[in-house]
Amino acid sequence: MATAISGPRVLLRQLRETMAEPLASQDRLDKIVDLIAENMHADVCSFYVLRDDGALELFATHGLKPESVHMTTLRLGEGLVGLIAAEAEPLSLENARTHPSFAYRPETGEDPFTAFLGVPVLRAGQTLGVLVVQNRDRRIFGEDEIEAMLTTATILAEMIATSDFDSLIKPGQDIDLRRPRTFNGTGFSDGIALGQVVLHDPRVVVANFIAEDTEQELRRLAAALDTMRVSIDDMLSHGDMQSFSDHREILESYRMFAHDRGWVDRLTEAIDNGLTAEAAVERVQNDTRARMMRSTDPYIKDRLHDLDDLANRLLRILTGDGHAVGTKELPENAILVARNMGPAELLEYDRSRLRGIVLEEGGATAHVAIIARSLGLVAVGQAENIVSMCEPGDDIIVDGPTGTVHLRPTPDVEQTYVDKVRLTAKRRAHYLEFRDKPAITRDGIEITLLHNSGLVADLPMLDDTGAAGVGLFRTELQFMIASKLPRLNEQVELYREAIRLTGDRPIVFRLLDIGGDKVIPYLRSAAEENPAMGWRSLRLALDRPGLLRIQIRALLQAANGGPLKILVPMVTDAWEFRQTRVVVNKEVERLRHAGEKVPEKLELGAMIEVPSLLWELDRLLPQVDFVSIGSNDLVMFLTAADRANPRVSKSYDPIALPRLRALRHIVDMSRRYGVPLTMCGELAGKPVEALALMSIGMTRLSMSPPSIGPIKEVILGLELEPVRKSVSAALLDGSDGVGIRELLLDWTERQNLSV
Ligand code: PEP
Ligand code: MG
Repeated sequence: MATAISGPRVLLRQLRETMAEPLASQDRLDKIVDLIAENMHADVCSFYVLRDDGALELFATHGLKPESVHMTTLRLGEGLVGLIAAEAEPLSLENARTHPSFAYRPETGEDPFTAFLGVPVLRAGQTLGVLVVQNRDRRIFGEDEIEAMLTTATILAEMIATSDFDSLIKPGQDIDLRRPRTFNGTGFSDGIALGQVVLHDPRVVVANFIAEDTEQELRRLAAALDTMRVSIDDMLSHGDMQSFSDHREILESYRMFAHDRGWVDRLTEAIDNGLTAEAAVERVQNDTRARMMRSTDPYIKDRLHDLDDLANRLLRILTGDGHAVGTKELPENAILVARNMGPAELLEYDRSRLRGIVLEEGGATAHVAIIARSLGLVAVGQAENIVSMCEPGDDIIVDGPTGTVHLRPTPDVEQTYVDKVRLTAKRRAHYLEFRDKPAITRDGIEITLLHNSGLVADLPMLDDTGAAGVGLFRTELQFMIASKLPRLNEQVELYREAIRLTGDRPIVFRLLDIGGDKVIPYLRSAAEENPAMGWRSLRLALDRPGLLRIQIRALLQAANGGPLKILVPMVTDAWEFRQTRVVVNKEVERLRHAGEKVPEKLELGAMIEVPSLLWELDRLLPQVDFVSIGSNDLVMFLTAADRANPRVSKSYDPIALPRLRALRHIVDMSRRYGVPLTMCGELAGKPVEALALMSIGMTRLSMSPPSIGPIKEVILGLELEPVRKSVSAALLDGSDGVGIRELLLDWTERQNLSV
């Protein structure tokens, strides 16, 4: 009959000594299993490592037949060992043979053994192997023994990740940790990027796993927990949440977890078993990550994510590892990988080295995706669990059109992509062929194609695409990348440069559209429950007219007597537009008074992106010089589905009947009042969506520059009139028949359009 373990702390110390000894890999592993068996009073201790082919290979054993080492394998899910690996949960059995998953392996000679305890070897939530102890006699392993095994497994995980097992692995095989992985996400952009992983929020590297002084480690944990709790309370009470998170709700749940006895007890227990405070956090975090990856309940997943974030925060406090976004050295072809990030955070990185961005969350019309596109980055979202699966510096391929991400690609996958990149270059060359051709349909309807832009750096692309001008210049981007509020002269300089680079083509400057997810770090405002519907954009501008006046002044000065187009974002009621016009007129008068040049032609337009305005167009349109539809916000508000949250937004097709009817209403009204109308939301840049817009009579489309070529190709091959007729009929027909998208797809096939 086995007795209680002699103490995991003793074992950990012995393990540390063994790891420091100059031993060959196999000898070291053999010694480790001997030590664990002795310490656990077990007759058997076996260590299985998960290979890249999904087999768990016996790497070392004390007690089973030595010839079974590197011979015995179990598949994931097969036998007790496979079950533990697949579920990432410990399994303790008084009599292993009676368990339905028991798989007998005669070559191991395990017949005499009855009691069984196995634990997963986890790192960042991933299963890397399984550690097992067995006894001849029946025995019930206690909670403390399970915990001791899990603690030991933490050390083994680190060993798998950092040791050189090459000499133990058969040729052609590798350990699972280095396995190539593919993620099927959602593409946010065109293009393909090959590069190296840069983790936006890198995991803290725990260097020291085994404690010298347990009491001291407990004190370190207590102090770190205190620091963390105080900082969370501070953030909650000051409303200063931008540096950490946008949502009060998340902070509240952090606070709840930070005080959660169960969590703290588990951390304490891991230290009691001989780990350092940081290794204890890592050990508990591993379980959380493992559960997070396996949970399918979105609510539970979110909470586990919160807990994971919190553990990271605690690790940073313990290791003093600060988190300096964007300042780190980037490799030449950096691909950022993150759970999520705000647009401002993305803009902090050195853009000359960034090639792509991969997010676990994020929707195609989230601002971070829009900015990624405007920076020419290849972007993919919804790549589930990728952060835990990759290490900084790993090779990675991001495929925008399919939304696929290949982590640690095999050489043939890599070669395929090298070829694809060549092909993309060919496609670009193909688009270049008709760059100078006007965008006119086969039946003679001219479409004006424009850029959405926001950084001076992407304006020279106008020459590559042959677009007619800039339909939307998002001026807030300059504010988002600045460390402090840009002064009047800095703004003048930027707008002047933008006008210079656009040449004699038109450029539409949109007034500051900040708030929501466009956070400006130095313009703090109180936390809001629903920032997208909060104090943002024009609302903020009219409440703070100083900011608005300076921007208008800068635009007028930059125009230097030339023409100027200003677009007013987020107009909700027509009076807001009137009020903005008053501010603009005052600034013009001021300029005239000072004897300076006023624009030869000043046009002021309104964005239509708040649904309420659709029923006030008869008041708005007589006052405006032009209008522009912001479909990203308009569709979000029409469907009450957050544009940044694909879980909800993906259910509502922006060109389905109700949305297209709303857009058609705007087209009809603008025509009635003779007001030029442009679409500047992301819809215009997608072929089928652009076809929908043209079919309801829109002729001015503004999009991110890489979309110009593909959209122009559609236009050049299109006979629009029949499509118009059929879509018009469908919009009138209230019956629940064929959807608009299906209808349009049918037309693209009939007319052989490449969409
Ligand atoms: C829109 O809402 O469609 C739009 C163009 O503005 P933004 O994406 O900057 O909110
Ligand atoms: Mg908008």
